[in-house]
Order: sequence, then structure tokens, then C-alpha cells
Amino acid sequence: MIVTKYLLDSPQNEPSILRFHHLKLIFLKITFLGTGTSQGIPVIGSNHLVCLSKDPRDKRLRVSVLVEINGSAYLIDCGPDFRQQMLRCGCTKIDAILFTHEHADHVNGLDDIRPFCFKQGDVPIYAHKRVIKSLKKRFDYVFETENKYPGAPSVSVNIIKNKPFVVNGLNIVPIKGKHLELQVFGFRFKNFAYLTDMKSLKDKEIDKLKGLDVLVVNALRIAPHHSHFNLEEALAFVKKVRPKKAYLTHISHLMGFHAEIENILPENVFLAYDNLQLTI
Ligand SMILES: [Zn+2]
Ligand SMILES: [Zn+2]
Repeated sequence: MIVTKYLLDSPQNEPSILRFHHLKLIFLKITFLGTGTSQGIPVIGSNHLVCLSKDPRDKRLRVSVLVEINGSAYLIDCGPDFRQQMLRCGCTKIDAILFTHEHADHVNGLDDIRPFCFKQGDVPIYAHKRVIKSLKKRFDYVFETENKYPGAPSVSVNIIKNKPFVVNGLNIVPIKGKHLELQVFGFRFKNFAYLTDMKSLKDKEIDKLKGLDVLVVNALRIAPHHSHFNLEEALAFVKKVRPKKAYLTHISHLMGFHAEIENILPENVFLAYDNLQLTI
């Protein structure tokens, strides 16, 4: 890994504390909070063998990732498993929530940001104006300006367009794609990009993904689907983008067992799994 290379390149006499100080400043830490499709795995009441699997990598909460760098924490999506995910990863502050789109499996945890609001004040959220409109409808009490209930979550709204923006000094590049007919944003941070719920992207958006160390992209299952890449489409997309490594996410139980699918993937492509951490 790049981290190993950096440590090997460091002068022998450099105190280790100093090296870790550098690591904190330079590297992106990615935590996969959830890697499952909208129902999660196991699916409630299912007797499918993948839902009954004992392999922890076959247990998938709804998709979300935490990106940490230089003391700031950026959350992509805030789905129905948000509370459990925050407890599981020990996250104590959030500097920004970036929304890919407004589907329930990506936004329904918004009420549970309250512990962060009580500590930090308004939590900054970043999304396309259509997504903000949808959040205002679903969570009207969060956006109330008069007689707002005192315990309700509070957010500061940042509408993003398909143009790079900066949060706490970090440049973030939106990548626009289509989820059937719905516009969805992926996000690039330095040499890492995260795309989910994509079915198609224009070439000029794919051009923004040049030179990636790690690409994360959705792959729902083996069979085709009307609004998500299936495995074959995701692998073709990875081939086109040519990152050093790719991780697949937003996975359905119909993909199959983690251990079996990972065996048939190209050598630089992996299935993501919950709690997986990468340092880039
Ligand atoms: Zn989704
Ligand atoms: Zn969706």
C-alpha cells in the first residue's frame, strides 16, 4: 500500500510520532459504513442462503462511507442504518454530509444526526437542490424556521451543482450520473471517488475520474437491473476508468456469497464489505 511505501521512504531516524502526524495530514481514511442495497442483507424474513450466511462480510447495512482527512470527517449519505453505523465506527463528529440522491436508503437516517447537532450545532449538508427539496418534504420539522421543536435536528444547507466545491479546505468534485432517469452525484476526493446508484454516465463525467488510486462503484447483482449497474456493467465501467483498485458496493443478496464472488473478480477489483477501512 501507499502508506507502507511512505513509511519505508521515511528517514530511519525520523521519530515515529512525526510520521504519524504526517499520515494524519496527508492520507484519506475511508470507512465503509454500509455496503448493502436498499433492503440490506440479511433481508427481513428471507431464507435465501446469502441472508443466512455466517460470513460477517455477507451482512450489509445500507450504503454509506465516512471519509476522514486532516481532522475533518465527511459522510456520504445518511441512510436508515446511520445510528448503528456511527456507534459501530466510533464517529464523534461530522463536518459535512454529502447526499448522492434522495432515495430512502440514502437519506432516512437524517433524524438521528441529533447527537451531533447537540454537540456541534447545525450539521452542514451538501446536495443538489432537488434533493434538498425532497428532504424538506420528508423532514419538514428539521427545516422549520418558526416555532421549531427544540430537540429537532438542525442543518445548514449547501446546494451543490455539478462543479467542484471546498469543505474545510478539501476540494470535492461531483460526478454526475443517471440512476435510470434520476440524476445522482458521486464524489471525488483527491485520488478517491465514490459512485453509487449509477446506471449510466456521460464520457465527460468519466473524464473526471482519471488517475484514481481507488474507485468505489455500485454493483447490485449478477442479473441486469433497470436503474443500477449489475456486476458485468460495473466491471466494464472499472475497465473504462482504469483506477489502481476498485471496490464494489450497494450489493444485493442476489449477488451471491462474498467469498465466492470475490474469487471471480479481476485482480484489482474487490467486493467492499461493512467496516472495511482503506488508507489512500
Ligand atoms: Zn440506493
Ligand atoms: Zn437510489
